[in-house]
Amino acid sequence: MTQTQTKGLSLTSSVVVVNALGMKPEGAAATSEGICAMCALHIGVGDLQAPTPFGQNFTDDLSLAARGSPCVCGYCATLSTVDGLRASGFGVFSKSGVLPFRKWQDIANALLNPPEPPFVMTYATANSQHMGWRAPVSESRNSFMVRVGLRDLLVRREMLERAVDACELLGNLPGVRPKAVNPARRTLPNPFVSMSSDLKEPSHGRLHPGLFSDEARNEWTDTHEGALALLRRLSLGESWALRFVLTPGAGAN
Ligand SMILES: [Zn+2]
Repeated sequence: MTQTQTKGLSLTSSVVVVNALGMKPEGAAATSEGICAMCALHIGVGDLQAPTPFGQNFTDDLSLAARGSPCVCGYCATLSTVDGLRASGFGVFSKSGVLPFRKWQDIANALLNPPEPPFVMTYATANSQHMGWRAPVSESRNSFMVRVGLRDLLVRREMLERAVDACELLGNLPGVRPKAVNPARRTLPNPFVSMSSDLKEPSHGRLHPGLFSDEARNEWTDTHEGALALLRRLSLGESWALRFVLTPGAGAN
């Protein structure tokens, strides 16, 4: 069975992103039905589409939603242009437009208060990175996905909010609390060795060894145990989100 014998999807990230940006689909009117190779959008007769712009050696082939299809939708065609790539690298895209998602305060705000779904969140970690067409579409404000570089990360809002309190409790323990706080960083207390905004630091989210020192253990209670258990249950997306939520005063990355 070929891809064109089945129906494609009716809503994809490319549609959400392009519409939010106020951009237009590009290409030529389709003369037969098809499915977008990149996002799997259904292409009806008359819809704008274009031939797949990549060959057999396309490095992102595994990301294609309908591999083998000979065409892409007009929305993916738009997102593949220089302007489309630039506009879709960082943002929260929804029917209400685009929320900024680059300055740390903006990222913290959007993660704690996402727009009405469906929405798409993208955070590029390299120049001209293809983000929009392969980002997941989120359907809930309480449990949603963010595309960070080449990863799709889960954020559960309640876990994120509870993690802030857990971080404060554990981050203020003797042996963990920094002796001198650099006022320029203004990061709220936390028990991590480091937090990485682009997840390129291998020590991202690693627990501070002081947490297991005698100094800290002398003040240890069941509440601390619960806080630590919570932090160990965080998804990578939630520990990534803490980077921004715990440092609301920081400027652009
Ligand atoms: Zn598409």
